[in-house]
Amino acid sequence: MKIRAAVLEAFGEPLVVQDVELAPPKAGEVLVKIKSCGVCHTDMYTASGADPSGYCDCVLGHEGAGIVEEVGAGVTSVRPGDHVVTLFSPECGECVNCRSGKTNICLAIREQQNRGYLPDGTSRLSRAKGPLRHFMGTSTFAEYTVMPEIALAKVNPEADFDAICLLACGATTGIAAALWKAEVEAGSSVAVFGAGMVGLGAVAGAKLRGAEKIMVVDMSDERLELAKQFGATHTIKAGDESVQQVLDQTDGFGADYTFEATGLVGVMGQAVEAARMGWGLCTILGVAGRGEKLEVVPRFLITGRKVQGGSFGGAKGRTHVPQLVEMYLRGELDLDGFVSHRITLDEVNKGFDLMHHQDGIRSVIQFA
Ligand SMILES: [Zn+2]
Ligand SMILES: [Zn+2]
Repeated sequence: MKIRAAVLEAFGEPLVVQDVELAPPKAGEVLVKIKSCGVCHTDMYTASGADPSGYCDCVLGHEGAGIVEEVGAGVTSVRPGDHVVTLFSPECGECVNCRSGKTNICLAIREQQNRGYLPDGTSRLSRAKGPLRHFMGTSTFAEYTVMPEIALAKVNPEADFDAICLLACGATTGIAAALWKAEVEAGSSVAVFGAGMVGLGAVAGAKLRGAEKIMVVDMSDERLELAKQFGATHTIKAGDESVQQVLDQTDGFGADYTFEATGLVGVMGQAVEAARMGWGLCTILGVAGRGEKLEVVPRFLITGRKVQGGSFGGAKGRTHVPQLVEMYLRGELDLDGFVSHRITLDEVNKGFDLMHHQDGIRSVIQFA
């Protein structure tokens, strides 16, 4: 079928929205009509060419939500009409990692996905010039996409697509990290470094868990103000004194839980140092540049601080995303507050510009 899609033709160049041919789903695959898709930093990072593992030509986009249109042979867990959130991080339930219950890093289709192909090693996307690759196994900057069944979370159809598409990446990363990866306890103190979408998600998750003190560190006054809406009780202007200010707020001990959501290794170091001696747990969520190293003085670990990290906030997509949608529908999670701009597919490059200028939290592409 012919669809409109935003193609990364060359690194460092604007995406080109054009007609693309999408082949029908093969065995284990699903055709999804995309309704909404967030514009995430990872899309922009790949488009810029800075990501050494990036590739083109491909159809970008990974923060999608939509409706199942058609299923390939053997697909049993979703059927036409189901509402789904796309997952760049699948959950097969059968590989050694999934069976362990200890991690969300599913091994089932990892290798082919990283190369830009569906699990059988081929692409469903093409155009006159030749084949196109899939991005993150999702390619949701498009009217339709074909994805593996194990990379779709079936969710409650009552929920608004503009809100739940954010659960495909940014929002879930922060929220799940606080709820399930760090398991923030009621009455605890929390420090979140970075008040973008991931950091604000961690704030929302900590609030949901009943944290008593939620400190948010960021450089932008505007974002710090926004953080209060999501549950921050204290805001701290980012700088050399950030750690000291967290200590001052916690009787000199540090926060029970800290979260890093900037991708800057210097800030990661601050998040470790701001964790409470004895039991403080630091969760790293930002993605650092390739080759960068996190320096930690061993004394911080010997005296009881712990450091962990989690891709997608440690969320198991097919298990946790439907639960987060229910929390949204019950009014426990304010996903609508993350959506700052609504744009069309043709305006996708504007979405990158807005992100570049740190204008708002998220631009969402709406499809017909
Ligand atoms: Zn993302
Ligand atoms: Zn698996």
